[in-house]
Amino acid sequence: MPLIVQKYGGTSVGSVERIMAVAKKIILAKSQGNDLVIVVSAMSGETNRLVSLAKEISDPPNAREFDVLLSTGEQVTISLLSMALEAQGCLARSYTGAQVHILTDSSHNKARIIDIDDKKIHSDLKDGKVVVVAGFQGVDEHGNITTLGRGGSDTTAVALAAALKADECQIYTDVDGVYTTDPRMVSDARRLEQICFEEMLEMASLGSKVLQIRSVEFASKYNVPLRVLSAFEDGPGTLITIENNKMEKALISGIAFSRDEAKLTLLGVEDRPGIAAHILAPISEANIEVDMIIQNKGQDNTTDFTFTVHRNDYNKSLNILNNLTESLGVREIVGDEQIVKISLVGVGMRSHAGIASTMFKTLSDEGINIQMISTSEIKISVVVDEKYLELGVRVLHDVFGLQE
Ligand code: ADP
Ligand code: ASP
Ligand code: MG
Repeated sequence: MPLIVQKYGGTSVGSVERIMAVAKKIILAKSQGNDLVIVVSAMSGETNRLVSLAKEISDPPNAREFDVLLSTGEQVTISLLSMALEAQGCLARSYTGAQVHILTDSSHNKARIIDIDDKKIHSDLKDGKVVVVAGFQGVDEHGNITTLGRGGSDTTAVALAAALKADECQIYTDVDGVYTTDPRMVSDARRLEQICFEEMLEMASLGSKVLQIRSVEFASKYNVPLRVLSAFEDGPGTLITIENNKMEKALISGIAFSRDEAKLTLLGVEDRPGIAAHILAPISEANIEVDMIIQNKGQDNTTDFTFTVHRNDYNKSLNILNNLTESLGVREIVGDEQIVKISLVGVGMRSHAGIASTMFKTLSDEGINIQMISTSEIKISVVVDEKYLELGVRVLHDVFGLQE
């Protein structure tokens, strides 16, 4: 019997009615002769509610206890969905992450899955049950509850699909597939029939939160056929798979953007070996991820050094730099929290020159100033003032012919 792992996101299980509707969908898929393992997120808004409760008590909250708290959201939905299935005559069993031994490392709030014990799941499936597993959570080797980072239920689903060697992993959400850009930003964005792992990985890491990055990494590593579909209406969705000749031969497959950016610049830094390391070592020691880095040599043996971080890490980074000013001989530190990143993604870029210049010209025609640029084989990212986000995404979407 084919084995399918289905994941339902927060909006898809956001009310009792929605949970009943999901149960119907599952029963239909089962009646078509599939074994089913279901992963669910917390009801929409619930994880955010829990985050604010914790922050009212202490900010940042104790990492271990924070995970104990956050994991409860998914425990609610697994039980409700299993009840809904049973109420409609379908045998079902719910499990928390720990109960099916989703073993992770101990990095609370962003744990990585190491192993999954599939025995219990296989034995339930053999008994004709639908297995419902809580997304977003696991347990470390010491028995502590861990969570996998926001959006982590996607990763639970793909990891289960890989461990169980499922025939497909289906991610049901509130849009009917992966689009050329966020359809909430650009109304004529187009659904893609297929997108390759490499492009999806870039889209996810550059800000398209339709799939958590790690879920795409997992799917790519274990070659899990992954599909994004609507929980509300029928349709083929988008298949994420290895690059093949059935894919559209587009230059650009999609546009990703991120609002979570902030930039720090050190002006007049002494120009000598080791300076970049000296600036960035304490930043990385504080567990802050640096994204783009630009260093420009000036005329007078000094250099300007700019880098970007997640907006949440802006104040912390600024404090670290302020403590370094003396040892670095910096003239001034300036920061900007009002920036965003817009990125073009496409494997078509490998074989086509001129995409960057079209991008830059299109933005300049709109009077949008580019503050930073970074490129790789299949993406070009620019940092611009946040007030240009929507305009920038729209004009690029048009100029590269991505609309419907
Ligand atoms: P869920 O709760 O089901 O996990 P998410 O909110 O995490 O859902 O992800 C779905 C959202 O991703 C959509 O509502 C959409 O706004 C957003 N999104 C961003 N980029 C894209 C894209 N390229 N294609 C489709 N959706 C996208
Ligand atoms: N409930 C978690 C979140 O809101 C995990 C998920 O939905 O994937 O981030
Ligand atoms: Mg999500």
